[in-house]
Amino acid sequence: MTVRLSNGTYIPIEMHKVRIVQKTTLPPAAQRLAAIEEAGYNTFLLKSRDLFLDMLTDSGTNAMSDNQLAAMMVADDAYAGGESFYRLQSATQDILGFKHCIPVHQGRAAEHLLAKIFIKPGDAVVMNYHFTTTKAHFEIAGGKVLELYGPGALDTESTNPFKGNLDLDRFRAAIDEWGVEHIPFVRMEATTNLIGGQPFSLGNLKDVRAIAAPLGIPVIMDCSLITENAYFIKRREAEYKDWTIGQIISEMMAQCDLIYLSGRKSTCVRGGMIATNSDDYYTTLKGWLPLYEGFLTYGGMSSKELEAMAVGIREMVDIDVASSSADLIEYFVNEMTSRGIPAVTPPGGLAGHVDAMKFLPHLPQSVYPAGCMAAAVYLVSGVRTMERGTISMDRDEQGNDVFADIELCRFAVPRRVYSMAHMQYVADRLSWLMANKELVGGLEFYEEPPVLRFFTGRLNPINNWGAKLVEAFAAEFGPDA
Ligand SMILES: *Cc1c(COP(=O)(O)O)cnc(C)c1O
Repeated sequence: MTVRLSNGTYIPIEMHKVRIVQKTTLPPAAQRLAAIEEAGYNTFLLKSRDLFLDMLTDSGTNAMSDNQLAAMMVADDAYAGGESFYRLQSATQDILGFKHCIPVHQGRAAEHLLAKIFIKPGDAVVMNYHFTTTKAHFEIAGGKVLELYGPGALDTESTNPFKGNLDLDRFRAAIDEWGVEHIPFVRMEATTNLIGGQPFSLGNLKDVRAIAAPLGIPVIMDCSLITENAYFIKRREAEYKDWTIGQIISEMMAQCDLIYLSGRKSTCVRGGMIATNSDDYYTTLKGWLPLYEGFLTYGGMSSKELEAMAVGIREMVDIDVASSSADLIEYFVNEMTSRGIPAVTPPGGLAGHVDAMKFLPHLPQSVYPAGCMAAAVYLVSGVRTMERGTISMDRDEQGNDVFADIELCRFAVPRRVYSMAHMQYVADRLSWLMANKELVGGLEFYEEPPVLRFFTGRLNPINNWGAKLVEAFAAEFGPDA
């Protein structure tokens, strides 16, 4: 945050102009009740037309820049050898310092290919924290995911600036226990999505490399949210406070043997890629690309998106781009904590999160507090959020619920899409909801898919609490609010 008001406060002022807008409407409470009932109290099943603000995810929902849109107009739609690919390759070389660039259709496709070439049954894949698609692909390949986060990483209210650090003692112990030959790589996720977009420090990354490199363990980075992690390093790690985002990203890349990313996040497009300087990795990976993704110079992406990604990679090292969402999230988290709302601290990248077990302390994990909170937030605000708790875990082999480590309601903040007024509105409605929390009850499944049930499962509100909540809300704000 660079602009300071005369009263001394900093505001997340937008360092861009808005020149194309998309209309949004606030559906009245009665419409929201009908919509959530039809959606089985699952926010994934709501329709855009029934939403005011869509804070479900920052994936593929970010605002693109004028330069990205302009680049899409000059895309070269050749099946093989298209210019668009070579522009992406040179952006990768210039900004990330890797000579090989392998486009894929999105982040999970990169994970699929990496699982295929690196992981054998019986391997242990070391990481700071898992992501849903990462874990699924690595486990299908027969690997066991070891999440070696440090003490306090799962504390929702904290002052630890780097909850995404990998714990070095646990890393050394895992190497002793499993043996180097069973550790195909160590994976660092740049801002750990599922624990609140929390970054790791550059010092920690260098320590990880210092342990891994002499043993021949490759360091792989999931760079989907790289700009936010680099921005937090600049803000929170004294040694790098005068470095540019570009210099910090280069230094991060210099610690890695290979990186991959979902272009749907930091680069504001829809696609993904893998990059490396290793000729061996490149040769092995490229053998599989035409089978699973597409020819080497498009990898399942449209040439328009290749062009936009090339520009997105160059733009993401601009501090005004890197800070755009992180600063608004910090403002939003402060708006929440100043109202006594149990938001996850310190603020992370991608979203503001609320600890649903603290927000709704009367609801046990067996009735899914984070799912209840997501539905209730929609009912009182028209804002769509995502449950990240026990509903996002599938049942065990005996059919019992597996309680999540933490129950979070996630308010994603897509880059350059929402304003301070939007954040104030959300914090205000949350404050009303917290004052009326006894009206929020539990949920139970009536339609439950066996895998990834959070996407399409449907639930009932126990004792029909949704209707009562809407009634109390409308009594105070009027029927049109
Ligand atoms: C989104 C994401 C992925 C998966 O990428 P998709 O493009 O959604 O397939 C992987 N890792 C992280 C950290 C992500 O945020």
